[in-house]
Amino acid sequence: MALRFDSQEDGTGDRLLGPDDPSPVAFSNPGGASSFLLVGDHAGMASPAALGCLRVSDADWARHIACDLGSRALGEALAQRLDARFIHQRYSRLVIDCNRAPQHPDAIAPSSDATNIPGNRGLTVRQRRQRVAEIHKPYHAAIADELARQTDGPHPQILVSLHSFTPVWQGKPRPWHAGVLHGGGADRFALAVLAGLTDALGTVIGNNQPYRLDATDYTVPLHAIEPGRAYVELEIRQDLLATPDGTTAWADRLAGVLTAARQDTERMPAA
Ligand SMILES: [Zn+2]
Repeated sequence: MALRFDSQEDGTGDRLLGPDDPSPVAFSNPGGASSFLLVGDHAGMASPAALGCLRVSDADWARHIACDLGSRALGEALAQRLDARFIHQRYSRLVIDCNRAPQHPDAIAPSSDATNIPGNRGLTVRQRRQRVAEIHKPYHAAIADELARQTDGPHPQILVSLHSFTPVWQGKPRPWHAGVLHGGGADRFALAVLAGLTDALGTVIGNNQPYRLDATDYTVPLHAIEPGRAYVELEIRQDLLATPDGTTAWADRLAGVLTAARQDTERMPAA
């Protein structure tokens, strides 16, 4: 699959990541045999040593602006239940947002939820390219590699993109417990997940809420909508993932709903 990078973004010269910085790409349950590939664009909170915390306070770095709180633990728990692979990105989305095109202005956000990000302002072209080449690009290459692999089972691969959202945004509480995001393409699977979660929990499940999946997203359009692969993007409210019990309950629920949706979708006649 062709990734959307030009040759100028391969990165040259000195590197951003030092020998003590972790790899941007983390695999959980890499030998998972199921057809589900779980991905977590915003699961990490690390920052390269050379960048520090971008001159953001520790208190702000602990907020949702740096990371989809709870999404990593949810992905790991869900991977175990589904025997699925879970790829997540270790660096904070304040370093680079892997669910934005690399050239998108918000890929390296100058502010987020009214918090100024001083270390993201006034960057040179080379500094931007370093973050793309060393974090964004290898993460998406890892997803593409996994999706290109032939799995042993009978099912085509399904991309499950995991996110979490803050319960209060700009002073307004959000009523949804979870949202199912879809935006065309091979979305029958996503709609089956929406139906399954709505059957279980009713109106607290958002249909393209609190966000709509659209052209500002990058991961699902690139790896699923363009190639016609089944997918779903899930958003879980962060307060519901704040305890191990909450995470366990959501992992159990999602494992059941995703498995049932795959069965339902496969039984449907071709569109
Ligand atoms: Zn997210």
